[in-house]
Amino acid sequence: MAHYDYDLFVIGAGSGGVRAARLASELGARVGIAEEYRIGGTCVIRGCVPKKLLVYGSRYGSEFPDAKGFGWTCKDLRLDWPTLIHNVKREVDRLNGVYTRTLETAGVDRFLTRAAVEGPNEIKLADRDGARSAKTILVATGGHPVMPELPGKEHLISSNECFELEQLPESIVIIGAGYISMEFASIFRGLGVAVTVLYRGEQVLRDFDMDLRDGVAHAMRNRGIDLRMDTDIASIEKESGGYRVQLKRGDSVAAGLVMAATGRAPNTSGLGLQQLGVDLGWNGRIAVDEFSKSSIDSLYAVGDVTDRVQLTPVAIHEATAFVETVFNERPTPVDHSFIPTAVFSQPEIGTVGLSEEKARETHSHIDVYKAHFRPLRSMVSGRDEKMLMKLVIDADSDKVLGCHILGSDAAEIVQMAAIALRLGATKAQFDATMALHPSAAEELVTLRHRWEPPAPVAGSDAAA
Ligand SMILES: Cc1cc2nc3c(=O)[nH]c(=O)nc-3n(C[C@H](O)[C@H](O)[C@H](O)COP(=O)(O)OP(=O)(O)OC[C@H]3O[C@@H](n4cnc5c(N)ncnc54)[C@H](O)[C@@H]3O)c2cc1C
Repeated sequence: MAHYDYDLFVIGAGSGGVRAARLASELGARVGIAEEYRIGGTCVIRGCVPKKLLVYGSRYGSEFPDAKGFGWTCKDLRLDWPTLIHNVKREVDRLNGVYTRTLETAGVDRFLTRAAVEGPNEIKLADRDGARSAKTILVATGGHPVMPELPGKEHLISSNECFELEQLPESIVIIGAGYISMEFASIFRGLGVAVTVLYRGEQVLRDFDMDLRDGVAHAMRNRGIDLRMDTDIASIEKESGGYRVQLKRGDSVAAGLVMAATGRAPNTSGLGLQQLGVDLGWNGRIAVDEFSKSSIDSLYAVGDVTDRVQLTPVAIHEATAFVETVFNERPTPVDHSFIPTAVFSQPEIGTVGLSEEKARETHSHIDVYKAHFRPLRSMVSGRDEKMLMKLVIDADSDKVLGCHILGSDAAEIVQMAAIALRLGATKAQFDATMALHPSAAEELVTLRHRWEPPAPVAGSDAAA
């Protein structure tokens, strides 16, 4: 029988890689892991965690004005960005230590260097001679920001650099309108920065439910963010004190910083996968089956590098299923249905299941229930912002296909709704659930009136 240095070698110590390495080691496998940057990966070092801390920090930007209606006087308010970013970095360092100790305690060999695949069972580490061998290789190298091909693209920053800013700009242009753009636009605005978002599509957050897209765009504009849709960029130029973004239609926008939030691509270049004949997708993603196995039997991949769903819990779930399949004799396919998702914009979005538009494509009879309302708190704070709660129902089976929320605590509420949707809950079961009062979430179990699309106006194209 062939002898290998390791039963499992993991490339990339992010959300997926760390989980797989630890679980396999706890099951008795000999495990090695390589990380070229910092243990913890994108989520911990420059993604979900530091971003959410900045979201918390930026929310005070609207909390203080809202407090006035409740009798508070808030004087001499001032943000000290160095304090905020220093404290965020301190938490990131702490978590980096926690993840490192987790691997240490589990007995995983750690290599802080870049790794590449040299053969179906061979790994080359950049900082040493010779190759390591492993019965199974797991690629969990994540992804990186894709920068748009524009004259002056060298002036752009990505979300990575936002966590390293020594000072806040007075103004920022953000290119793109996906969830990372919406979140950073809200963070910067909440911290007092003038924000312009430029996007060539017709509405923010492509693929989300249209009511959420329209609702969040309206609310963000009300909060002072300049969202410009149908806008193509010609170039970015450096000028004194900042940058000028030239638009194709002729006008321009000046800003202290220009950030691109135009998508992420899998980290597969230079990994040796093409030479090995591993099937890759158009954007370099590793093509895998439902057990996360690539076209080579000994090579598996989980997380963002497979470009299935780019979220931390998904990478962790895929890693857990991989270990069950390969090291615990329990073949476990990954189920990607009903993944709850948040956008930590201000206001926040929480969503799970099918959008109304998708449901209409895939089901023959759809019912929609929705409520737009001013939450109780706004009645006293005076904030003119409505919450949205929406359920999309399969009229034939009464099953709830989608749940979409815009407003405070949307993410927290949707995590719980996801359990019900996954269990196949019907609208009648939602209705039979006792409301919790006074809360915003109670609207989900008290939606009584089916929403009817407005009747076409006589004489319009629709009526013709
Ligand atoms: C700004 C931002 C905000 C986000 N917010 C959220 C959120 O709120 N919720 C959510 O669920 N998800 C969020 N995500 C997505 C989430 O971070 C990723 O889906 C998740 O980190 C993917 O985990 P992974 O294990 O696939 O890859 P990663 O966590 O990216 O880990 C990959 C690791 O591999 C290392 N690596 C790469 N190549 C090599 C090599 N050749 N050798 C050695 N090491 C290598 C990298 O340095 C990295 O540490 C966010 C992402 C970003 C960028």
